[in-house]
Parts: sequence; structure tokens; C-alpha cells
Amino acid sequence: IALGAAKRGGQVISFYQKGSEEAHLRRLRLIGDLRHAESRGELQLVFQPQMAVLDERPVHAEALLRWRHPELGFVPPDEFVALAEHAGLIPSITRFVIGRALQQLDDWRLRGIDCGVAINLSALDLSRQDLPETVLGLISKYRIAPELLVIEVTESAMMQDLEQSIATLHKLRSAGIPIAVDDFGTGQSTLAQLKRLPVDQLKIDKSFVMALRAGTDDERIVSSIVQLAHALALVVVAEGVETEEGLEVLRRQGCELAQGYLHSRPLEPEEFARWWGERRRK
Ligand code: C2E
Ligand code: CA
Ligand code: CA
Ligand code: CA
Repeated sequence: IALGAAKRGGQVISFYQKGSEEAHLRRLRLIGDLRHAESRGELQLVFQPQMAVLDERPVHAEALLRWRHPELGFVPPDEFVALAEHAGLIPSITRFVIGRALQQLDDWRLRGIDCGVAINLSALDLSRQDLPETVLGLISKYRIAPELLVIEVTESAMMQDLEQSIATLHKLRSAGIPIAVDDFGTGQSTLAQLKRLPVDQLKIDKSFVMALRAGTDDERIVSSIVQLAHALALVVVAEGVETEEGLEVLRRQGCELAQGYLHSRPLEPEEFARWWGERRRK
């Protein structure tokens, strides 16, 4: 999203024509309010379980950020994360997300919930030299085993500055933190680039998974991603698993982990703890 105006051919052209003025004002307001969202307690993490495909037991969770604006209501992360990138707010948001996720792991551990948590980074996080230090500092503060924190980065975010991404991810991974390529299959990366990335998991984008059925193009795409991942010794996670049939296809194709509405929506921490307890007893 471009904010304000951009220079094109020496001429300043406003991106916002009549009709999009309202959208423009909303963005300005959101950016202003986002600066105070954390201190006002409006940001929260919800957790969506990731299940082992073979026996459908929960093993991990993905932490997803929620912003409840006092007047505008729920603002979707796809909308405010992009704004945060433009407004320079990503470092503090990411710090909040990692700190909050690790605090939650610590709390759950005391209650016998032995799950790991995946968090999302933006492209801007990867370009920051101090990110590994921040993450490792928080991990030792909460005394969390590094393999319990998984870092998800989209394929396209990694490609924005490939060399810097490799350096940052390498530092995290050397410390024992698993790295997942998010939204895999939607980016432009080549196999040669993929081979160079220090990663442990491929996360198949939900667009191939939500309506997954046997004998379709989706199945052939999933099948080739699983084969590619396994050839590179990577674990495969499918996101957006909504149907039993989709899960069945994933099981046949050898995908390891499944995440989606079939098993659960993202849950608030207390709901998640209850859900986990019930599910584990089955
Ligand atoms: P993502 O990382 O690809 O997250 C998966 C999205 O799919 C989440 O949307 C999740 O709620 C949704 N989802 C889960 N299961 C299903 C399903 O079965 N069907 C369908 N149709 N959707 C499903 P959400 O929570 O709205 O997040 C959207 C995006 O916002 C995320 O996509 C991620 O890119 C970004 N985001 C969320 N939290 C954070 C954060 O803490 N930091 C950063 N940098 N980005 C975040
Ligand atoms: Ca993700
Ligand atoms: Ca994703
Ligand atoms: Ca996504």
C-alpha cells in the first residue's frame, strides 16, 4: 500500500482519487491509533492448533495477532500489519508478539500443556540486524527451549532482500529455532533460492488446501510440494485445512502437520488451554 503520493516521471501523482478518500482517512486514523494500541491493551494473540496428520493430535499452535479497536471494532491483521510496515511500527509489534507468545508458552508449560508456538515475522523484521538478539534475549528471559518457538516468514518476504534474510534466519536457526516458509507456492522463488534458505518447514498456502479434493490440480500441486519438501528434508505443514476429504488427501500425500477450521479456529489463550486438554485426553 502506498501512502500519500508517489513520484512518477518527475510528477507527483496522488494515489487517491475521489471515492478512495474514505479509505485514505481510515488508513491515517489506523496508523495514528496503532501507535497506542499496545499500551492501551487492544492487541491480543489468538492461537490456532496444528495437528499431527497421522493421529490428529495437537502438537503446536500458530500465534495470530488481533487488534480490537475501541470504535472501529476488529481490524484484520492483513490490513494493519501492512500499515505498520509503512509507519515503522513493525519492530515494537514484533517484540510484543514474541514476548507475549513466549510468556504464554511459559504459562502453559506450568499447567502441563507441552506445545510449541509459531509466530509470524514481516519482511521488515528480516532486514533488522538486531532481530536475532531480540529473539534470543526473550527466549532466555522466559527460559523456553528454542525448538518450541517456530518462526514463519513468507516466501516473498524472504526474497525482498535474500542475502540479509539468509543471514538473519541463519543466526536464529543456529540457535535451535526452526524456520518455516509461509504461504509456500504463492511466491516467485526459484528452487535454487529455496535450496539456499536456512529453513526447516514448508507451509503450503491455504489457497491449495481449503478446497482440496482427490484427483484435482490442487492434489497434484500438494503432492509435488510434499515431494520437494521431503527431498530437501523439510517438514510439511498445510494451512487452511477445512474438510475431512482435504485431510485425507494430505495424509495420503505424506504431509506431517495440518492447521485449519476443520480442527479449530484460532482461540483465545484460555479457550486454547481447555481445547488442548480435551483433545489430548481423547
Ligand atoms: P498467515 O500467516 O498466512 O495466517 C493464516 C491465516 O489463515 C490466518 O488469518 C488464519 O486465521 C487463517 N486461517 C486459519 N485456518 C483457516 C482455514 O481453515 N480457512 C481459512 N480460509 N483461513 C484460515 P489471520 O489471523 O486473519 O491473519 C492474516 C495474516 O496476517 C497472516 O497470514 C499473517 O500474514 C498476518 N499476521 C497475523 N498475525 C501476525 C503477526 O503477529 N505478525 C505479522 N507480521 N503478521 C501477522
Ligand atoms: Ca503464518
Ligand atoms: Ca500462511
Ligand atoms: Ca498469508
